[in-house]
Amino acid sequence: MSRDEFVFFARPDTDDDERRAIERVLASGWLTSGEECRRFEAEFAEAVGGRFALALNSCTAAMHLSLEAVGVRDGDLVITTPYTFAATAEVIRYLGATPVLVDVDPVTLNIDPGALRRTVERLEHGDSVALPPALRDGPVGAVRALMPVHIAGHPCDQQAIAAVADGRDLAIVEDAAHAFPAAWHGGPIGTHPGGNFRHAVCFSFYATKTITTGEGGMLVTDDEAIVDRARVMSLHGISATARDRYTAGGSWEYEILAPGFKYNLTDLAASLGRVQLSKAIAMRDRRASIARTYNEAFADLPGLETPTVLSDCDTAWHLYQLRVDAPAGADQRAVRAGFIALLHEAGIGTSVHFIPLHLHSYYRDLYGYAPEDFPVAHREFLREISLPIYSSMTDSAVQRVVAAVRSAASELL
Ligand SMILES: *Cc1c(COP(=O)(O)O)cnc(C)c1O
Repeated sequence: MSRDEFVFFARPDTDDDERRAIERVLASGWLTSGEECRRFEAEFAEAVGGRFALALNSCTAAMHLSLEAVGVRDGDLVITTPYTFAATAEVIRYLGATPVLVDVDPVTLNIDPGALRRTVERLEHGDSVALPPALRDGPVGAVRALMPVHIAGHPCDQQAIAAVADGRDLAIVEDAAHAFPAAWHGGPIGTHPGGNFRHAVCFSFYATKTITTGEGGMLVTDDEAIVDRARVMSLHGISATARDRYTAGGSWEYEILAPGFKYNLTDLAASLGRVQLSKAIAMRDRRASIARTYNEAFADLPGLETPTVLSDCDTAWHLYQLRVDAPAGADQRAVRAGFIALLHEAGIGTSVHFIPLHLHSYYRDLYGYAPEDFPVAHREFLREISLPIYSSMTDSAVQRVVAAVRSAASELL
């Protein structure tokens, strides 16, 4: 089979609209953060129902700045799950804080709110059993923030997580890299879930995400102090009043308030983002239709579990997470690997989301984790295969995936 027939795992959906936007910015003579970024921020904030938005060069940057802005410091604890990408936990480490992992719900693969509450209560009582194994002989730090991750774009239980933070002085920084557009019980991901706690939501516009600027991200919050601090820290820690110093009305004066970072988005990227934003609902609807096709095509196959969308949840369908079960007596790892290999032979790109954090050498060695420490994350990881789901997929590509999955299932399961 020739290479161009391969069904890629992910592919951006862009056309002449994006090309014209880039050309317009090139012609303007202003390539980095400027008017396009300000417009993209205003339009994105409106789309997700947040008060403030800050355009950044990644979701990782947005999460780093959010944690910094809510006061996470050396020695603090931040709670998230092992079932996520590297970025969620590394930003906690950037600040010298410790990620405390909580296992996930087997259906959504999102943080288990009951386990989250128990972990927070144990840490409040100084019970070190909630800490990573290697830290249990030391002091128990203060929990400063919770970082739920909306895996595949399926929203977390916003109310249950908010109830844990409410009244405890715990910030919530949502990893919404997969979750645009998505909503929980009618509330778009991006809005404050309600309750008394500081809150920021971080979106990704990486090349494979639901809308893309190549690389890019957005921090959304209703909290003016968070966005003000993040804005300063996103550009070298330089005072906000001096940021416009290259524009006609700006001044040459500036003041360094803190050793900040270099996290600003370019106007070139923002112009892509604005076009992608205008297509976001149509692209999501196409992904939802692909998901329906897959769900129906795989419903009758033994050994396969299709993704569940909980009631009153709108998922972004960033990922289509199929789960495979090896037949009795067969090795789960080998069967999953064989499934991926058969799809590859049929010209279908796949991925696995995610290798849980606690299995990676850095976290395993630093914190003394064993695979069984998070049994749900470990078990579900071994079952997971992500299939292609993106709006530029043709119907014939979708049908090829269906045929290849059905054939692999009949051979292996
Ligand atoms: C992609 C991703 C990120 C990071 O997004 P970037 O924009 O690449 O920094 C964070 N969390 C999750 C779950 C992701 O999949």
